Amino acid sequence: MNFIEGTRVIAEGELQANSITRYRVTKSYREQITTSGYYDQLKYIVEPSLEEFESPGNLDTSGEHDNTVVPGLQHKYAQTGLMLVTDRCASYCRYCFRKRIVGKDSDEIATDFAQIAQYIGNHPEMTNVLLSGGDPFVLSTAKLEKILNHLLPIPHLDSIRFGTKIAAYAPKRFEDPALPALFQRIHEAGKAAVIVTHFDHFGEISVEAERNIRSLRAQGVQFLNQSVLLAKINDDPEILAATFAKCHQMGIRPYYLFQGRPVKGASHFQVPFRRGLEIVHSINQRLSGIQKTFKYIMSHYTGKIEILDLGADSRVYMRYHQNRAYEKVGKIFSRPYLEGACWLDDLPEG
Ligand code: SF4
Repeated sequence: MNFIEGTRVIAEGELQANSITRYRVTKSYREQITTSGYYDQLKYIVEPSLEEFESPGNLDTSGEHDNTVVPGLQHKYAQTGLMLVTDRCASYCRYCFRKRIVGKDSDEIATDFAQIAQYIGNHPEMTNVLLSGGDPFVLSTAKLEKILNHLLPIPHLDSIRFGTKIAAYAPKRFEDPALPALFQRIHEAGKAAVIVTHFDHFGEISVEAERNIRSLRAQGVQFLNQSVLLAKINDDPEILAATFAKCHQMGIRPYYLFQGRPVKGASHFQVPFRRGLEIVHSINQRLSGIQKTFKYIMSHYTGKIEILDLGADSRVYMRYHQNRAYEKVGKIFSRPYLEGACWLDDLPEG
């Protein structure tokens, strides 16, 4: 197998034992990153590294298994349902937090959409559903239509959201002539169609991606972007500010900058809080008010936590952006900072 550090002979069993993610890169993404001028950073997104064998962590850092209410449907926060509709992606990110699922034949994937719709129908507090996986846009449009057949009749759903990296990995997918009718159906059902793109670096954004996103926007699809803060790839305020500015220019609202998770085989991508906060403050100094619409978020087992600041008292200040317990949402709390800490569990209580 080819690693960034060189070629190694590795037994199949050794790859599985170390939870090494399947290797796959689309031709268009390879071309984009090799001609972007940023290959030395972007190669770490998709090219395997021997560091994956050494990185400690676990495979379910935000408690997805515990929040699964029907196979393939998670209900962690009252308003949001998260559906895992496929275990495949167009290419595989080496830092993926769902590496327990992606590129494998997973039994966590939704199969019984009627059962899922029945659960959602019985939960009027759920106002939006996020189709994720894997990447929902590796599924055919016909398959996505079948899933929508179950979701669109549910009156209390306000929006259907698609979480996808396809605009980076295979932007031609958005040229499918059947897609406008799919989004039209969502609109006619009185719901918002939202695509959450996943650009970590402006070098991933091809001319084709921009053209196709502009075309879908003209058809009424809303776009948000989420990025992951990644060592060696985008841990640089110049790069992230330029990425968010580019998204804004294309009509994509920067939404979340995720703290890298302590995932087994991927924790070498984590950036310590001190550096992460320096980067976030520096990004904010570079952007106009309408561009800095992102939150620096840690998607923790206990909830989505916004990372606010490292105080002069050497404490990390945070706020629950989402929590199962309503009363905790918006509450600011702090923990003493330990040099090098990258995750809530690395910070001592007190
Ligand atoms: S596209 Fe998303 S689900 Fe797929 S490998 Fe990348 S991070 Fe994981």
